[in-house]
Amino acid sequence: MHPLLERAKKVMPGGVSSPVRAFLAVGGEPPIVAHARGAEITDVDGKVYTDLVGSWGPMILGHSHPAVVEAIARAAREGLSFGATCEREVRLAEAVLSRFPWADKLRFVSTGTEAVMSAVRLARGATGRSRIVKFEACYHGHADSLLVKGGSGLATLGIPSSAGVPPALAELTEVLPLDDERAADALFAERGREIACVIIEPLPANSGLLVQRRSFLEHLRKLSREHGALLIFDEVISGLRVARGGMTEITGIEPDIVTLGKIVGGGMPVGAYLAKDALMTQVAPLGPVYQAGTLSGNPVAMAAGLATLELLEDPQVYRELDARGTMLARGFERALERFDVTGTVARVGSILWLSLQAGPPPRAWQAVDPRGARLYGRIHRHAMRNGLWMAPSAYEVAFVSLAHGAEHIERATRAFESALEAAREEG
Ligand SMILES: *Cc1c(COP(=O)(O)O)cnc(C)c1O
Repeated sequence: MHPLLERAKKVMPGGVSSPVRAFLAVGGEPPIVAHARGAEITDVDGKVYTDLVGSWGPMILGHSHPAVVEAIARAAREGLSFGATCEREVRLAEAVLSRFPWADKLRFVSTGTEAVMSAVRLARGATGRSRIVKFEACYHGHADSLLVKGGSGLATLGIPSSAGVPPALAELTEVLPLDDERAADALFAERGREIACVIIEPLPANSGLLVQRRSFLEHLRKLSREHGALLIFDEVISGLRVARGGMTEITGIEPDIVTLGKIVGGGMPVGAYLAKDALMTQVAPLGPVYQAGTLSGNPVAMAAGLATLELLEDPQVYRELDARGTMLARGFERALERFDVTGTVARVGSILWLSLQAGPPPRAWQAVDPRGARLYGRIHRHAMRNGLWMAPSAYEVAFVSLAHGAEHIERATRAFESALEAAREEG
């Protein structure tokens, strides 16, 4: 074991600050990172990897983009934290809201978890109802109410929900299967009047990439409206990645609240929730729903988000991301074919997932074949050896960034090919 990993394990559970980073699902040692630039990440021994994780989503421009780093340095020289409103905060709020024109206001927080937790509190406060509805395999951060059947981190460890969530609280969370109108209808028929909100990742990307039918999302919009419940689109991953205005723009469906995270902070800790005035005036100090944060709207984090969004302003960048995603997906699919491994690549823009099973990529968790995960573990170990940093879980997606040029994609494809060949020989 690497001496730094050994030290890490002595002082942090699993040697990590977030569970999936420990590589338990795939085996092998997680490298300790020294630095990262563009599409590449380098470990403390100087080994260079092509990075397909992108810090789990935020690094859409690639690592250490010079404009973002410069913006951070400039902001830092002007003060690290004020505990008061600053200009960069106003500008980032305006930039985000311009991408979600139906929303009037937003509140900044420091993580996606906080954004979702606050959105749910707002929904409960505004409706005066307690029950919430989420979907199996969707991850919404680690707030108590949402850690019920919550996506890859939990699926990877084989635990459907977390210890430490009081049953009285878990009981208020109803879990529905994705892609199933009938199940949603039945729940609303029985409990519709108790439901404060329905929360969904409109592009579920935390248990593979389970692309939903637009008609299913439309159904949830209709159903929640009919029963006086709010619809929350958790766009922490999809929000600023799949289009300027995320899945909200792509589907044309208007939710009541959108939550953002990851890209909105450009690699610094930022989250946000946005809604129309009628809802946002319920938030303190204007209304009774309390929500606060010492570091919320932090000037350095705002600067990183702002610089990132400025570089994503040109709609051409989303076409570019799509083109690079297509290139990588084709490379991986050709490799699967060449080595006769059953599977396809599910993809929306720059988000990709290796679906190691027959037939089209699944839309719901029950349709995911667990046998794919064993093969993925073997592929992962060889890929890491070959200098390709893939997500350390069969159920995590891959992200392509604007820094992934043709040469990185070719290198990634070649590393994947030899990993696939080696994994198949072992199996
Ligand atoms: C990552 C993620 C979160 C949690 O965000 P953190 O910043 O990790 O707290 C919430 N929802 C979705 C959809 C996510 O992908």
